[in-house]
Amino acid sequence: MRRAHHLPYRNTLMPVIDRIYMSEALKEAKKALEAGEIPVGAVIMHRGQLIGRAHHQTHALKDPTAHAAMIAVTQAANALGNRWLKSAILYSTVKPCAMCAGAVALAGIARVVYGAVPLALKTPKVKTSSGVLGQESATLLCAYKKYRRNRKRLLL
Ligand SMILES: [Zn+2]
Repeated sequence: MRRAHHLPYRNTLMPVIDRIYMSEALKEAKKALEAGEIPVGAVIMHRGQLIGRAHHQTHALKDPTAHAAMIAVTQAANALGNRWLKSAILYSTVKPCAMCAGAVALAGIARVVYGAVPLALKTPKVKTSSGVLGQESATLLCAYKKYRRNRKRLLL
């Protein structure tokens, strides 16, 4: 793993509870290291309960999306039986990457606590093409919006 830069350590200000959950995330990161993976761990806390805990497993699962936070978000959603994790807190030993930050935002997670910031965040360069069958794709989105609006009206 690339060298990580450590954030200023504010022992006195950092709530004890954050340190407790972060130490659980660290246990996960150590599991990743033992397995030869990038040592990142994450846990998700919801109303005082751990509802997700995972470590980086992209090699083990042969899945480029198997980041600790992604796995923990899926576990947490399954545990709650809900795609929304509104009052949940994510503890990650490393600052979430763009993909994980996206998942966190989509889940509506209330707060993110992280330990270190990777010094060199890899920004993948991907060739993109846009507008291909764009009209058809947009039409589907509009149909979905209309469906949601009508459903809401029927439920009220
Ligand atoms: Zn990630």
